[in-house]
Amino acid sequence: MIMMSVTGLIGSLCGCNGANSGGANPLAGGPIPAKVNVRLINDNGEVTEPIFVRKIVKTPAEWRRQLTAEQFSIARSQQTERPFCGIFHDHKKPGLYSCVCCRLPLFSSDAKFDSGTGWPSFFQPVAGENISSRLDNSHGIVRTEINCARCDAHLGHVFNDGPQPTGQRYCLNSASMVFSEQKVLPGTSAPISTLPKATFGAGCFWGVEANFRDIRGVISTAVGYAGGRTKNPTYKEVCTDQTGHAEVVQVIYDPTQINYDLLLLAFWNMHNPTTLNQQGPDVGTQYRSVIFYHSPQQKEGAIASRDRLQRSKKWGNRSIVTEISPVPEFYYAEEYHQKYLEKKGLRTCHN
Ligand SMILES: [Zn+2]
Repeated sequence: MIMMSVTGLIGSLCGCNGANSGGANPLAGGPIPAKVNVRLINDNGEVTEPIFVRKIVKTPAEWRRQLTAEQFSIARSQQTERPFCGIFHDHKKPGLYSCVCCRLPLFSSDAKFDSGTGWPSFFQPVAGENISSRLDNSHGIVRTEINCARCDAHLGHVFNDGPQPTGQRYCLNSASMVFSEQKVLPGTSAPISTLPKATFGAGCFWGVEANFRDIRGVISTAVGYAGGRTKNPTYKEVCTDQTGHAEVVQVIYDPTQINYDLLLLAFWNMHNPTTLNQQGPDVGTQYRSVIFYHSPQQKEGAIASRDRLQRSKKWGNRSIVTEISPVPEFYYAEEYHQKYLEKKGLRTCHN
């Protein structure tokens, strides 16, 4: 299911152009959700290093549309399913249990044990970062409630009477989880390499990357060079405007949270696509507006989206000069350029 909501895109952070004045940003949402460190699963089925992602925040109505009534009452309203009734209490297949709301990987079957309680029980999560906890004083007892760290879904409780090696018992509601055998992982439990990519150039890549990182559903980003004539270009070489490479951002996104059309909308809103080889004070082919598509569907979507924007007259009668080409080899930019504004605590490229 594609969630058609994007929060946190707040127009051009880059300041590389003064042209982002065209009315309300259709993607502007409420406050930007906080970020949290979580771990995903890599291509070998191993847990990754922590990745800093936006929390997933939705309205109750949005959750209701996505979940069954039972899943909603448990995962979003802190109810508990009856013991021995959940689909996973006696479930023994090898695989991965993920959050029913956001598909964050939570527990592996390797850590599942029969606690005799009637609820699926685990002695440890896939990653401590993926579970948050808080004191729960309901029903006159003090317990520790556990939640999905990314979307705050209610999962169950954790107790200190579990088996070794941890001595913990994570007591789960089946309805708070989805299961997959390791080979076919759902949503963002899937290996990162199986998630779709999108590649855009919209001027100075520092600001463009910062803009994309603020979008819900964007799992990771990298800045680099693409579309030129030379191999393994350096920043210095690209600056000369002689290599033909554009400064681009490669985006990996979760299609259960955002679709390509919304990424395109974000792209159009973060730069001026009518100035040839220029964004504000930055001039040269390396700053050109470009969409490098990764599939025929992306190509079709990019052309249709460009044509809609042209017809909308947002830019008056000026032509949109954005290049739309098949994705060429992507060369990672030097490490100091990655997440540059975040590292420097800056909001724009031209402070
Ligand atoms: Zn979640």
